[in-house]
Amino acid sequence: MTDQERQELLNELLDRQNSGGLKPKDRFDIPPQDMPEQDANARRRNVSEVALGYTETQARIEAMRCLQCKTAPCVQGCPVRIRIPDFVGAIAKGQYDQALDIIKENSLLPAVCGRVCPQEVQCQEKCTVGLKFKDVSKAVSIGRLERFVADRADSVAQPDKGAPRGEGVPPSRVTVPAVAPSTGKKVAIVGSGPGSIVAAADTRRAGHKVTVFEAFHKPGGVMVYGIPEFRLPKAIVQDEIETLKKMGVQIVTNVVVGRTRTIEQLMTEDGFDAVYIGVGAGLPSFMGIEGESLVGVYSANEYLTRANLMKAYRFGSGADTPIALSKRVAVVGGGNVAMDAARTAVRLGAEKVYLIYRRTESEMPARVEEVHHAKQEGVEFHLLQSPKRIIGNDDAHATAIECLRYELGEPDDSGRRRPMAIPGSEFRIDVDTVIIAIGNQANPLIRQTTPGLEFNKWGNIVVDENLHTSMPGVYAGGDIVLGAATVILAMGQGRIAAAAINADLAAKKP
Ligand SMILES: Cc1cc2nc3c(=O)[nH]c(=O)nc-3n(C[C@H](O)[C@H](O)[C@H](O)COP(=O)(O)OP(=O)(O)OC[C@H]3O[C@@H](n4cnc5c(N)ncnc54)[C@H](O)[C@@H]3O)c2cc1C
Ligand code: SF4
Repeated sequence: MTDQERQELLNELLDRQNSGGLKPKDRFDIPPQDMPEQDANARRRNVSEVALGYTETQARIEAMRCLQCKTAPCVQGCPVRIRIPDFVGAIAKGQYDQALDIIKENSLLPAVCGRVCPQEVQCQEKCTVGLKFKDVSKAVSIGRLERFVADRADSVAQPDKGAPRGEGVPPSRVTVPAVAPSTGKKVAIVGSGPGSIVAAADTRRAGHKVTVFEAFHKPGGVMVYGIPEFRLPKAIVQDEIETLKKMGVQIVTNVVVGRTRTIEQLMTEDGFDAVYIGVGAGLPSFMGIEGESLVGVYSANEYLTRANLMKAYRFGSGADTPIALSKRVAVVGGGNVAMDAARTAVRLGAEKVYLIYRRTESEMPARVEEVHHAKQEGVEFHLLQSPKRIIGNDDAHATAIECLRYELGEPDDSGRRRPMAIPGSEFRIDVDTVIIAIGNQANPLIRQTTPGLEFNKWGNIVVDENLHTSMPGVYAGGDIVLGAATVILAMGQGRIAAAAINADLAAKKP
């Protein structure tokens, strides 16, 4: 559909809307709007954002596909219960500021969530339109609409060769939330991921003095060091951090809580009245196979951190931590992290990137969109295969992986069919780099340095429904509680913990 055809369609829909309204059948007939994307070949050699966002015309047409269901099943699928029909309805009417206000009632980071939330297994999975077509890809594109209104308001600058953005995007007009008069109470937030950003904003709004302690030199958590620029431009996260600073939140980087200061010291020596622990799940899992300590074998966390946070993709010019130039890369795993690592390897110039996964594509936990993009960019999928060992040369550099072929058996505890190795099916793939992306767990540092804090057997902090931990005045949320989860779930927990902190501090004697 050309831009002109789209404009004509929108005009016709508006005319019909004004004269008698659109019936459900009319709305089913509206074609779903695809998101414009950077060309697959061009994007193999840059880190600019792949998905370019809806134009205003596309957003309004897409919003008109919504039936405004009375029961709003989409809201049930949203972890933070955004009033989806209301914000989508506002977009259909061209009331974008109102749409953003509705989203912000429940979600503080719409530009982030509109990009990285797995909508196809949340709100969009429940959408009546997708169910009618028996195809979730035909559901109302709630995430893209959320992104549209957020981008329109934030007008994010793209740092690495700005990709074209939606039409009619005005300059930045980010509003700084109002802050209540000082309560004289101090809140420490440990870590600066999405849960922490929300917890910091909500406790600061209540008038507390809030300090965020971050181990890295840059705040933002996984949104900055893990998720690549081509999926989530860092300027967006930076905007949110700047908003926190304008609210008066103090952000202190290069502080590893548990080493620089313990949780107990924050409470007893530094005078904090409450501490929120949002340190995520940053400890990578390995396979425990021969050859994992060879040169050229990375965890996906290390690889992505070098590329994203340390800007290794700039090679000689300005990379804090360089990365070896790889020709043949094997990425092991089938989740979003594996896709991010494989697509980053493509952009860093690898000639061949193999994605090795021991189940089939239908069991892959990665988002369908990410799988699609990875294939478009030339990542080769090796399914029903898994490494048995990594082979090295005399200099201890990885040179090949020996894999086994797999078949699927009965479903296991995860509900997915269990992969079973086929004996004698060994074969080799020549590689110079292996990236292990099979999952992350809780880092044990807080556990080792905080006696009195209760953890479960996986190393996650135990909390009650208001996210109080076993230590008075200490709260926790995000991946350190949930295990490796999602941005929106971490944000939701940041909000719950902040509400508990605000209530507890209000009840506390001065
Ligand atoms: C590569 C990758 C891709 C992902 N893609 C998606 C996606 O597309 N969609 C999605 O919804 N989710 C995705 N996730 C998951 C999502 O990013 C996380 O669930 C979410 O960021 C967790 O938020 P959090 O608030 O727990 O903190 P995190 O984002 O985990 O941040 C924790 C912060 O705490 C800091 N920290 C750790 N220990 C200490 C300490 N001792 N002292 C001080 N600071 C400390 C860390 O440096 C980090 O900055 C992805 C994860 C990864 C790794
Ligand atoms: S379920 Fe789909 S069609 Fe119904 S209100 Fe939600 S977004 Fe609109």
